Amino acid sequence: MKKKGLKIGTQITLGFWIFLILIVALLWLMQTVFLRPFYRGVKTAQVRAIAESVQRELETEELDERVKNLANDTGMAILVTDEFGTRYSGYKASQRESLIELMDRTTLRTFFDEVNQDGGSRLAVYASPYTYLNGERSEVLLYAKICRSQSGNPRMILIESEITPVSAVVDTLRIQLIAVTVIMAVLGSFLAFFIARRISKPVTDINEAAKGLAQGYTQIHFPAGGTREVNELGETLNYAASEIGKAENLRRELLANVSHDLRTPLTMIEGYAEVMRDIPGENTPENVQIIIDEAGRLTALVNDLLDLSKFEAGEVSLKRERFNLTAEVRDILTRFDKMADFTFPFDAGEEVWVYADRLMISQVVYNLVNNAVSYSGEDKTVYLRQEIRGSAVRISVEDHGEGIPPDKLKDIWERYYKVDREHRRSRAGTGLGLSIVRNILTLHGGTYGVESVLGQGSTFWFELPLAPSENSDYNREQNDSLQN
Ligand code: ADP
Repeated sequence: MKKKGLKIGTQITLGFWIFLILIVALLWLMQTVFLRPFYRGVKTAQVRAIAESVQRELETEELDERVKNLANDTGMAILVTDEFGTRYSGYKASQRESLIELMDRTTLRTFFDEVNQDGGSRLAVYASPYTYLNGERSEVLLYAKICRSQSGNPRMILIESEITPVSAVVDTLRIQLIAVTVIMAVLGSFLAFFIARRISKPVTDINEAAKGLAQGYTQIHFPAGGTREVNELGETLNYAASEIGKAENLRRELLANVSHDLRTPLTMIEGYAEVMRDIPGENTPENVQIIIDEAGRLTALVNDLLDLSKFEAGEVSLKRERFNLTAEVRDILTRFDKMADFTFPFDAGEEVWVYADRLMISQVVYNLVNNAVSYSGEDKTVYLRQEIRGSAVRISVEDHGEGIPPDKLKDIWERYYKVDREHRRSRAGTGLGLSIVRNILTLHGGTYGVESVLGQGSTFWFELPLAPSENSDYNREQNDSLQN
């Protein structure tokens, strides 16, 4: 089989490398291409701001102090002149000579005029007259601004800032960047490898285990490991495996039970028939009755199995009609009347009509009463009650028998499920009765349930919606259309 898709490990490593390439590319761009303009931009903003703050102090006593502080703080040279080149205040931070310092009165005056013509301010980069790092010429940024003092005299503010040669920095950064790139690539590859292993290993393990499931081993335990998703997957598969295991066990049990249930009556029928054929005088009505009873057992079992397989195949359709449920229950109870030692008190109240499949609902009642009889023990009384609850009617069947353990209450509705695992013939149940009840009520959209106390008895109940009153044709049509 051709394997589709990339391995988790490959995907993670690939993703990591794409990420790394993007990051490194971005860093290179930022640090080499854009560093110079970025640096200039910052410097320009700085000199402008200094010019502003000098301008505010132009005619105050603090001008000198202010200029000195600013120059010291920023490492720049600052000069304030008038239109004739007279120096009013000036200061430079470093020991190095500055371009401004070299300008004499005449140069300053000419410069003033030039700046004035430029529109009152000029920003320019000049080659510094001094050498700097590695013999490379350093550059200076010169900013000039002409403004008027409070008393209206023209002033020129000159700010000079050295621009550290960026290429030297760029070289350093480049080396650093190469180092970072190499370290990141090595470290990242290791990391990607280990992460990928951590994630893919448990998935591979689970995959191996799941292959066993497909071959019918349901006792598999799916390993947990690594990430939460994988753990959850493991849990889900464990759950699935245990459910499949349960279903498989039930299937096996059913096969065993059904074969047993079929064989026992058949053996009886065969045995009695042979006795009646071979031994004169054994052809008695009692023996014939035994054969008939056993044949009845067989029929009931086969019918249950057929019903259930039809339900499960979804082949059952409801034949709804309006009928008197109360009368129907009474009718079913008469079928049990031949059990001379049992009594079936029915607390009914008014007659109640429902719109449902009559045959199926009677099967529900029959199965519940039949179970109550089978499990009622010494009491030999099965109590039936009919109650109206809002727009529904509830039928309950109560026995004072052995009850059902609380942890089994959910399972009894499952097909083939029996609380009593031993196959006692006196209780010729197949474990199908309640499953049929559940199927029928679900098809009707009804509700059902059971309350049971171990050793005290059980109450099984179901609820169906009441039928609309007889003369309401509209409601009947509604129900018909709902059914379709
Ligand atoms: P069965 O044919 O075995 O009665 P059912 O599906 O009708 O199968 O019932 C499933 C199981 O539920 C029974 O085997 C029995 O253990 C339990 N059960 C059903 N009804 C009662 C009841 N009234 N009292 C106690 N246990 C019951």
